Amino acid sequence: MSSNRICFLSILAALVAMPGAAAPLASCGPEKLGTSREIAVDGGEGLALGLQSYPRTLALADHEVVLTFDDGPVPPTTPLVLSALKEQCVRATFFIIGNNASADPALVKREMEEGHSVGYHSNSHPARTLRLMSVDAAKADIEAGIAAVDKAAYGDASGKPRTPFFRFPGFADSPALLDYLRGRGMTVFGSDLWASDWRTMTPQAELDLVMGRLEQAGKGIILFHDSKASTAKMLPDFLRALKAKGFKVVHMVAGAGPTPVEKAGPDWKSTTEPIIAKTLGGKGPASEHGDGGPEAR
Ligand SMILES: [Zn+2]
Repeated sequence: MSSNRICFLSILAALVAMPGAAAPLASCGPEKLGTSREIAVDGGEGLALGLQSYPRTLALADHEVVLTFDDGPVPPTTPLVLSALKEQCVRATFFIIGNNASADPALVKREMEEGHSVGYHSNSHPARTLRLMSVDAAKADIEAGIAAVDKAAYGDASGKPRTPFFRFPGFADSPALLDYLRGRGMTVFGSDLWASDWRTMTPQAELDLVMGRLEQAGKGIILFHDSKASTAKMLPDFLRALKAKGFKVVHMVAGAGPTPVEKAGPDWKSTTEPIIAKTLGGKGPASEHGDGGPEAR
């Protein structure tokens, strides 16, 4: 046997044995939504993406969407979300709270085994936000979250984050923390549109709201919460609506760059900063400020 062949077989064996390795993109047949393609995101580029918070986002074609879910995993809603995604062969990204990962590591493992990407969303999802904590305390919460998720997902936390995806709770970033995460090799994600699922609403109302916003935007990174019952209930209908309206799902995975990025136009403004300022300005709870606030997300 040639050395080349031995080398190839070793790599193949290593890939087969790799715990938590995602299965190849599966097709459920033409009647299902499926996952149309993957985009590799390279954390080494230090990007911050998502037009609601940053003047650039992932470059997607018209009618392409990326599905993201925050604040899990929590039963019984996360298992319902996972089942809905599996039914349609759709892959998504979960931004996980470290404390929830520690409480239910089996659900994190299920997310991995079903081919989803697992990113970080702090350890405690602090109500006063990472922005208002001391930089050292915020860094400690971020690191504890990374360690908790990696321990649940991979069985060990080596110190280097296994997936370079981070989303700030409530989008409440700060220049110092963005620098810190850049140094940790992370891409920071905001979103391009959201379902406002921190509000109490019926699944049908949420479906109508998010589909209306999506038809207007045409594409984008969508934020949901797998901790919300209305989201878990409307997701099967949402995935069917995506299929019916010709939308395609793109899955983000960790990988070598360059990450395809699209810059915002000259009129770009943050939509999250006014909400954060209003909420953190001590004027009352987030739910009184129209579109929610940091503790809601
Ligand atoms: Zn959150």
